[in-house]
Amino acid sequence: MRIDVLTLFPDMCEGVFGTSILGKAREKGIASLNTVNFRDFSGNKHNSVDDTPYGGGGGMVLKPDPIFAAVEHVLAQSSNSGEEGNAAEDTAAMKPRIILMCPQGRTYNQQIAEELAQEQHLIFICGHYEGYDERIREHLVTDELSIGDYVLTGGELPALTVIDSVVRLQPGALGNETSAIADSFSTGLLEYPHYTRPAEFRGWKVPDMLLSGHHANIEVWRREQALQRTLERRPDLLETAELTVKDKQTLKRLQEQASLQKN
Ligand code: SAM
Repeated sequence: MRIDVLTLFPDMCEGVFGTSILGKAREKGIASLNTVNFRDFSGNKHNSVDDTPYGGGGGMVLKPDPIFAAVEHVLAQSSNSGEEGNAAEDTAAMKPRIILMCPQGRTYNQQIAEELAQEQHLIFICGHYEGYDERIREHLVTDELSIGDYVLTGGELPALTVIDSVVRLQPGALGNETSAIADSFSTGLLEYPHYTRPAEFRGWKVPDMLLSGHHANIEVWRREQALQRTLERRPDLLETAELTVKDKQTLKRLQEQASLQKN
C-alpha cells in the first residue's frame, strides 16, 4: 500500500511515520508512507498557497492550483514507478482514493478503515486556515472524511488518525495477527476486558474464568463481556452488529438483569 500526505507541515507526519506500528510497517515495506509539501507547488515567488476569500470575510482560503499540482505530481510519480500498474490493469480498484480531510466529510469509523485498507494507494489532503477553494472538493477529491464533530487547526492529526487505523489492518503490520480481529468495532461490538499478571493486585482479582485454562469457556465469557460492555456503553452498535441466536439470548438475559438491578 502506498500513502501520500499533502501537507504544509510534513514534520508533523514524519514523526508519527517513524514510530511504533507505522514505523515497523514502513521498515518492512508493508506501507510506503510519504509526505508532500504542497507549498513546493505554489508556482509563485512568494511560495504562497492561500489567499483571501472572494466575497470578503475572515480567514484565508487554500488556493486550488498548488493542491491540484501536488496531486498530479504524486499521480505521475506513482504511475512512473508502475505502482498503478499498466493501462490495461488500471481498473477502478487500482485508482487512488484522494481524500480531503474536513469537518464536513463523512464521519470516520472502523468500517471505513476496513474499506480503505483494501486500497493500494491513498492520497490525503490536509487543510489549514479557514478552508479550501471549493473547486478542490468538486473536481479533485474522491472522498471527504471528518474524524468527528469538532474543529482542529489542520488536517494532519485527522489524516494520521485515519492512516494509523488503516495501516494496522494490513497483513503483517501487527505483531499478533489476531489482535486486530477482536478489536472494538471490528466485530461490531466493543472489545471484552483484558487482564495480565499479577493474578491479584491490591486485593483486586482477575476473574476466575480467565485462570481456568478452559479455552472454549473463556471464549463464551469474552463474548458475553463484549455484549455487556456494548449494551452498557454503546447500545447503538447492537442495532447493526452481527448477532447469533445465542448472542440475542444473552443480551435478553443481561437486559433483564440490568432492569432487576434498577428496580
Ligand atoms: N472553516 C472550516 C469549517 O468550518 O468547516 C474549518 C477549517 S479547520 C480550522 C482547518 C482544517 O483542519 C480543515 O480544512 C481540515 O483539513 C482540518 N480539520 C479540522 N477539523 C477536522 C475534522 N473534524 N476532521 C477532519 N479534518 C479536520
